[in-house]
Amino acid sequence: MRGPGDVALEEIAEPVVGPGEVLVRPLVSGLCGTDLEIVAGTIDTAYVHYPVVLGHEWVGRLAAPDQDSLVVVEGIVPCEVCDECRRGATNRCRTYDEIGFTRHGALADLISVPAHLVHPLHHEVDALDAALVEPMAVVWRALTRARIESGSRCLVIGDGTVALLGAMLLQRFSPASVTMLGLRPAQAGLAHQAGVTDFVTEIGDRRFDFVVEAAGQAPAISAALSCADRGGVVVLLGLPAHGTKVDLFPDDVVNNDLIIQGSFSYTRESWSEVVSLVNERAVKPSFLVTHQFDLAQWSDALATLAASPSDAPRGKVVVVVSRE
Ligand SMILES: [Zn+2]
Ligand SMILES: [Zn+2]
Repeated sequence: MRGPGDVALEEIAEPVVGPGEVLVRPLVSGLCGTDLEIVAGTIDTAYVHYPVVLGHEWVGRLAAPDQDSLVVVEGIVPCEVCDECRRGATNRCRTYDEIGFTRHGALADLISVPAHLVHPLHHEVDALDAALVEPMAVVWRALTRARIESGSRCLVIGDGTVALLGAMLLQRFSPASVTMLGLRPAQAGLAHQAGVTDFVTEIGDRRFDFVVEAAGQAPAISAALSCADRGGVVVLLGLPAHGTKVDLFPDDVVNNDLIIQGSFSYTRESWSEVVSLVNERAVKPSFLVTHQFDLAQWSDALATLAASPSDAPRGKVVVVVSRE
């Protein structure tokens, strides 16, 4: 990204490896809606420093010739000294710095990253599973911040990748059921692979113990609040457009003893927990990768991500940066 709206595939200088950094050769990088916002220039400028190389959902190999381990790298670069970092809330670090946003990302042959953010993977881990660590860490942090009791009736609102990862990761908490409320029936197959018990396009008057809002649209957020049973938890994970308003009935929140929880990005702890799940092969999210493009096809990749819903399922769109 040379600047907002100005995207190109071009040769740039090799990264300079700073103190405490290591060089990594990216293999696969997923794209998401945030990348589209960076491309369009609609993202809050506090979160992006142009020019920037895209790519924040990725897996690579250490570039040093003597060690070629498969690795994932935490994208948020915490300052380590602020009060938030010291209490473990690295997602709220006072100095925002993130790979693919304020420093170059992984859609490149090489990337230099802080060594202490590198997490080695078991040699049997599939690179496509690992490419989903970043969005899984975001979802995992939201799920684990709230308390989910086993046997819960869960509802996931939304049918995009974050929603599907939510349904998959909810399985770790032994739910009684996981219902998905989506708008695209074409996503039902992916939803069932993620462990969804029933995929519905209307919810009626059913109530749930644990509701995850992953659509980021006002009607979905209203639905999330009204679908929670007494004593329920509503997790807001989707990011609505700035300025979005929803109707809230505070007496219902009080009378129904609800917990409403937001969650921003991931902490070092949630990232590490997801890496453990991947290393144990306890989660294998690569079934969600429906579209793969080479780096030279970057514009097709962005167009696929931006395309309006069709009859074909769409999960994660990834760019294969380097083939092994
Ligand atoms: Zn993303
Ligand atoms: Zn900090």
